[in-house]
Amino acid sequence: MISKLSSLFVRTLRDDPADAEVPSHRWLVRAGYIRRAAPGIYSWLPLGLKVLEKVEAIIREEMDAIGAQEVRFPALLPREPYEATGRWTDYGDNLFRVSDRKGTDMLLGPTHEEMFTLMVKDLYSSYKDLPLSLYQIQTKYRDEARPRAGLLRGREFIMKDSYSFDVDDEGLEASYQLHRTAYQRIFERLGLEYVIVSAMAGAMGGSRSEEFLAVAANGEDTFVRSPGGYAANVEAVRFAAPAELPVDEAPAMAVFDTPGAGSIGAVVELLNRDLPGRTWSGADTLKNVLFMVTDPEGGKRPLAVGLPGDREVDAKRLEAALEPSVAEPFSEEDFKQYPQLVVGFMSPVSLDGTRVLGKESSTKIEYLVDPRVVTGTHWVTGANVKDQHLTGVTAGRDFTADGILDVGDVREGDPAPDGSGPLTLARGIEMGHIFQLGRKYAEALGLKVLDHSGKLVTVTMGSYGVGVSRAVAAVAEATSDDKGLNWPLALAPFQVHVIATGKEAEVFEEAERIAGELDGRGLDVLYDDRKASPGVKFADSEVLGMPIIVVVGRGLANGLVELRIRATGEKREVAVDSIVDEVL
Ligand code: ATP
Ligand code: MG
Ligand code: MG
Ligand code: MG
Repeated sequence: MISKLSSLFVRTLRDDPADAEVPSHRWLVRAGYIRRAAPGIYSWLPLGLKVLEKVEAIIREEMDAIGAQEVRFPALLPREPYEATGRWTDYGDNLFRVSDRKGTDMLLGPTHEEMFTLMVKDLYSSYKDLPLSLYQIQTKYRDEARPRAGLLRGREFIMKDSYSFDVDDEGLEASYQLHRTAYQRIFERLGLEYVIVSAMAGAMGGSRSEEFLAVAANGEDTFVRSPGGYAANVEAVRFAAPAELPVDEAPAMAVFDTPGAGSIGAVVELLNRDLPGRTWSGADTLKNVLFMVTDPEGGKRPLAVGLPGDREVDAKRLEAALEPSVAEPFSEEDFKQYPQLVVGFMSPVSLDGTRVLGKESSTKIEYLVDPRVVTGTHWVTGANVKDQHLTGVTAGRDFTADGILDVGDVREGDPAPDGSGPLTLARGIEMGHIFQLGRKYAEALGLKVLDHSGKLVTVTMGSYGVGVSRAVAAVAEATSDDKGLNWPLALAPFQVHVIATGKEAEVFEEAERIAGELDGRGLDVLYDDRKASPGVKFADSEVLGMPIIVVVGRGLANGLVELRIRATGEKREVAVDSIVDEVL
């Protein structure tokens, strides 16, 4: 297929979107692949949609290859099944709840275990029907507390989710392994450098679970790996550690004052000291750290909550919080909503640093670096804690750990739990997640079949997800450079970008002829037929990121065209007669 750039629905932008934190987001927007509709919600333009469809095609092929069958469930779902499994409430604020005109509660599906379980229960009743694996590629909704980085963490996003149904544990293990291999093939074909890490089952429940993380400096997940092949996300390592942490081994922590009063530097220092594996900058910290000021007299009731780098997200809450009479109680649940590091504290100083809110002599400061990690309290004395930056406080004296270990407990160089060498820390983007759910959902919803001896048994299930829209961003994240996008052949919207330069009609005719011939050979071709300067066209070709670029211009008089390789920057002259073979 040939698309002409003069009529393609695309505009490349010169400036970064204001909220762009990572390269994939910046370039997907600037190259006109996606447009933001609302926070965490994106529209797909023609070029973006083509990449998305190529990712989907790869996933479909690999799912079909393991015998999974494609279906499609609705996104708008009834409340009852989610009520039956407890997820109507367990999902908390992340669930988009809606009601219809009669006032009936409904939800926008964040994931579909319940619906698949009920469908199989509806139609199947015997062990002879199993094993069964079903999948869908579909839009999911999660009201993420912090949608970020464009497609990487959306509130509406596309997921491939599959579910396996087996009579016994061996069956489940086999279905799980099939998915595991399919996922390995998918992420290899996407060209991602990835690791498989053992993970916590988390909200899904169930026993065995592994995540596929694309190695990426901007990833939100921290994982460890050893030269001997051990890999785990830090969460899993942390939970694997003993629950009781001796106080004197608790990590040293810092407490700080009100943001805006110069404390950011202290926070940055703390993060770099206690969260190795990533270099935190001031800007990073502003974006990822939740600052809150609470009333020392009023328990956890917030007086102010601020996400300095991302006020839009919490603007409402900030407003409400600033007016104590309308503020909701601030709970640890709230902190858990934040996927990234959270630092909270209690301070007698108001956000503007002027109002002294609490007792003047002795003030309890509570700080919390992700409640799953460590919480502690610290007492300071003095009329104004505004200027106190307390770092390296002493464990035991200044705080007691609550028995949950800290990220800081896993350090670069620590031995891997399986003895396979020293650990190194790195960051990754969660691309896929496979779970052995076991019988949790089947039990809650009554999915049973007759086994070979005629006895009713509860079915055992697995669930398997791939972030499809996230994959588009992850590949862009891994491949883009300072000039723009840079797609691998397998995912590029067009494999070849033909550019005609100058004004001569022959050049345009020849460029169109080459484009047509490449198209005839089965390639997707983008043809820049615009009346724009060569400089504009070249720059656009770099932003748009097609892997092979053919420039037809002045050289044509000597029978030459130019072949450019986007990824390497390589350029060479090729005889016009052999350009098609050269590209192929
Ligand atoms: P995360 O830890 O990033 O929040 P998750 O563990 O909540 O992801 P799962 O429930 O395991 O996600 O869903 C399966 C896959 O869906 C994830 O591995 C990820 O690739 C993708 N995914 C999850 N949440 C989002 C999101 N908000 N935006 C885009 N993709 C997502
Ligand atoms: Mg999540
Ligand atoms: Mg996760
Ligand atoms: Mg997950």
